[in-house]
Amino acid sequence: MTSILQALSCADNYDPNSLHADRARELILGLLLPVTGVERVFLRQALDRVLAADVISPINVPSHDNSAMDGWALRSADLAAGGETRLKNIGTAFAGRAFEGKVGAGETVRIMTGAVLPEGVDTVAIQEVARVEGDAVTIPAGQQAGQNTRRAGEDLQAGKPAIPAGRRLRPAEVGIVASLGVAELSVHRRVRVALFSTGDELCSIGQPLAEGSVYDSNRYTLWGMLTRLGCEVIDMGVVKDDPAALEAAFRDAASCADAIITSGGVSVGEADFIKQLMAQLGEVAFWKIAMKPGRPMAFGRIQPDGADRPGAWLFGLPGNPVAVMVTFYQFVRPAILKLAGLDPLPTVPHFQARCTEAMKKSPGRTEYQRGILFRENDEWCVRPTGAQGSGVLRSMADADCFIVLEHERGKVGAGDTVTVQPMAAIV
Ligand code: AMP
Ligand code: MG
Repeated sequence: MTSILQALSCADNYDPNSLHADRARELILGLLLPVTGVERVFLRQALDRVLAADVISPINVPSHDNSAMDGWALRSADLAAGGETRLKNIGTAFAGRAFEGKVGAGETVRIMTGAVLPEGVDTVAIQEVARVEGDAVTIPAGQQAGQNTRRAGEDLQAGKPAIPAGRRLRPAEVGIVASLGVAELSVHRRVRVALFSTGDELCSIGQPLAEGSVYDSNRYTLWGMLTRLGCEVIDMGVVKDDPAALEAAFRDAASCADAIITSGGVSVGEADFIKQLMAQLGEVAFWKIAMKPGRPMAFGRIQPDGADRPGAWLFGLPGNPVAVMVTFYQFVRPAILKLAGLDPLPTVPHFQARCTEAMKKSPGRTEYQRGILFRENDEWCVRPTGAQGSGVLRSMADADCFIVLEHERGKVGAGDTVTVQPMAAIV
């Protein structure tokens, strides 16, 4: 494998001390490959998993030409040009119970939605327009040949891919697979992510909160975010700011996970040994990303047993709880989706909204403020969720969108238009 640090340093406009947020994301995605390993699962277990091989349709869907409406099945050759067509009713075709005979010239059968088109028939006139007297059926002018029918294979064709590899299986895909009568699928194995929090000040739930300590919340937000992405999460707890304990944690994590996520210990004011240790155990770049919140971030590979051992990708996130979530959604989420085998990677939807409050912002960094969307005078508006400090986790909980203030942008005046990313699409 080419050296990560080499690959990064060769990249255009690479400056680890001031990296554009979009550039950081590109660099990460450019290095990652999907994890190998496939599992066979039953259809219901495949929900939310990522398909590892195309699903090839064993049958045509629909399997027969059939009616799209309740009405009268007829031969288009019988339709009178420009006037009413009089036909003779010779029977009924039900869904699942076909009309066995042949429909000859001047004849029609009553047909239900989903019923196989009887031999000879190519068109259905809807029941609402027909006039029926005894066995005489009158169809008004204006019918088109072929209307109200569904052709065999028009949805999915036998032998062709019905769902491509790389797709996450949502309810629609699960339904398609069921419509093919397929019971088992090949999906990518789940991405295994080990995580731990670092910091001497961290307490775990169940311990009394000592003077000057804080409860460790990052492990819980990270667990939640990773679980929602379908990862297998290996929670390694809190690791003290102690070189031996940290080294042991990194070694353990690298031996069992595809990726390691840590929080804390990468900021300028932190004891430098965490960074030294990360650098010793693999190839790790220390980035100062031009963004707020979440400036420092470590990215690379931890390979304590040498570069020929698999090791694990490392995302060393900052410690502040909001910075953890923002850097996760902006960089780690797309990376995990790539590791998971998703192809193509989903784009994050964004749109413009009118910001109803002024916001400070200096050009030269991307900011991810937390906002609340609402409708006013028929347009989308957004307001920030109060205090935006990177330790104020409530600003994330109260928000339903990120307000993305682009790199070059300066301050926002009340009433200005801003870009928003709805959280419903990413959280
Ligand atoms: P650090 O990046 O380690 O300097 O931490 C920055 C800030 O985030 C400090 O106020 C830490 O106490 C806080 N912090 C670090 N890790 C956690 C955590 N796991 N849960 C909650 N707060 C944390
Ligand atoms: Mg710390």
